[in-house]
Amino acid sequence: MRTLSKSKLLAYLQCPKRVWLEVHQPELRQDSADSQQRFAAGHRVGAVAQAIYDLAGCGTLIEPHVIGYDEALRLTASLLASHRPIFEAAFKANGVFAMADVILPDGEAWRMVEIKSTTSVKDYHRDDVAVQAYVATSAGVPLSRVALGHIDNTWVYQGDDQYNGLFVEADLTDEARARRAEVAAWVQDAQCIVAEPSAPKIRTGRQCRAPYECGFFAHCRSCEPEPQHPAEWLPRPSPKLSYLIEVEGVTEMAEVPDVLLTPLQRRVRDCTLNGQTFFDQHGAQAALAGHGLPAHFLDFETISHVVPVWKGFRPNQVAPFQFSVHRVGEDGAIKNEGFLDLFGRDPSEACAEALVAACGSVGPVYVYNQAFEKRVLKELAERVPNHAEGLMRIHDRVVDLLPIARDHYYHPSQQGSWSIKAVLPAMFHELRYDALGGVKDGGMAMAAYIEATDPKTTAERRQAIATELSRYCALDTWATVKLWAFFLGRELNE
Ligand code: SF4
Repeated sequence: MRTLSKSKLLAYLQCPKRVWLEVHQPELRQDSADSQQRFAAGHRVGAVAQAIYDLAGCGTLIEPHVIGYDEALRLTASLLASHRPIFEAAFKANGVFAMADVILPDGEAWRMVEIKSTTSVKDYHRDDVAVQAYVATSAGVPLSRVALGHIDNTWVYQGDDQYNGLFVEADLTDEARARRAEVAAWVQDAQCIVAEPSAPKIRTGRQCRAPYECGFFAHCRSCEPEPQHPAEWLPRPSPKLSYLIEVEGVTEMAEVPDVLLTPLQRRVRDCTLNGQTFFDQHGAQAALAGHGLPAHFLDFETISHVVPVWKGFRPNQVAPFQFSVHRVGEDGAIKNEGFLDLFGRDPSEACAEALVAACGSVGPVYVYNQAFEKRVLKELAERVPNHAEGLMRIHDRVVDLLPIARDHYYHPSQQGSWSIKAVLPAMFHELRYDALGGVKDGGMAMAAYIEATDPKTTAERRQAIATELSRYCALDTWATVKLWAFFLGRELNE
């Protein structure tokens, strides 16, 4: 029998084809930048958990990637006699290998805590804990309690590397015990699948994105016939439409019954099938009527940390480290101002001050997708009381161009998306994010910030990143200026 790791068993639960590929063709997996950032955040959370659960500093961290899996199993067995905390304890039983994030001595038994960087308990965490408990107890380790430790998103960091209270525990002892037979059946089924000479025939579908984005998606998609007009481009699908596409396998939008489509989806279908652009300029002009000049166009780039690094922050709370503001004056003159803080300190105060100055006190503040910008403004106002009034005035002047675009414009090249990166090249072929060197999207901007604020980064590299970020953020606001002028049919003084 082959030994399957816990992560392979969880891959089987997501999709049987995935576990086969993980075992036989792992080189086909492509982890997205998001997945890699999630892994990095997970490591940081694990390190903080060790500090919290080992206040006396007498525990041991086992590192199988350094010492090898056999040695990790041997070391765990010897440490189980010590009655001290063990981190990444390794167990193997019934053809499964698993590592427990935290096990703590509890009388003659052990209390197990599985650490997650999410802010609540998800169903797939329950599966994870059930597997963990199954392997440990099958290996002969008595467990008194089994819990999942997740992030408390109401907790506020008070500084000085003090993270007590960051995690809350959900007790899953009874549930994990009750699922032993279920886990044994998963193991048996997964072993049968990986013993097959070829991968099971499974189409891509909703399982490819949940609970995790599957790294084999590009491979699986490349093996399937490509639809001419993909049904998955239809925006905002209802549960019935999602079921039709993801479960029943309808791939062409022309095959979707009319009755399942909203007016917006019909517009996308008709424009796509006929290769035509929809533009209701009168409607767009009417939506913008009443918003005069001067006009400001705002975009933020932000950073958030699962484990807060700045005093006063909650887990995952966003901080703007950059903004760009384009201003169109009453005379039509256009000006761009930006703010960028790559010092690695809390940028809130400096950002608030610069923003209040850049946005002036009158005229609309245009953004694209207001929920995000309004949230950033509100949270910034809470953290910087001396600029709260000015920030909330900006908040109240925000006008969102996204719903205007969605209601009044569609080009087939948008492929069902109204993200600024889909709309912009459809309207203006010369304005393309992919033509930017370096930073091209929000995820890359965040990664660039992390690199730039790393003390190991050279001054030259930091300067290069600053240039990339400035170009990227300015393009975002210039895009909204162009969009606004396009809707109004207005010439710009470029
Ligand atoms: S991409 Fe989808 S179908 Fe392919 S292995 Fe992953 S989950 Fe399964």
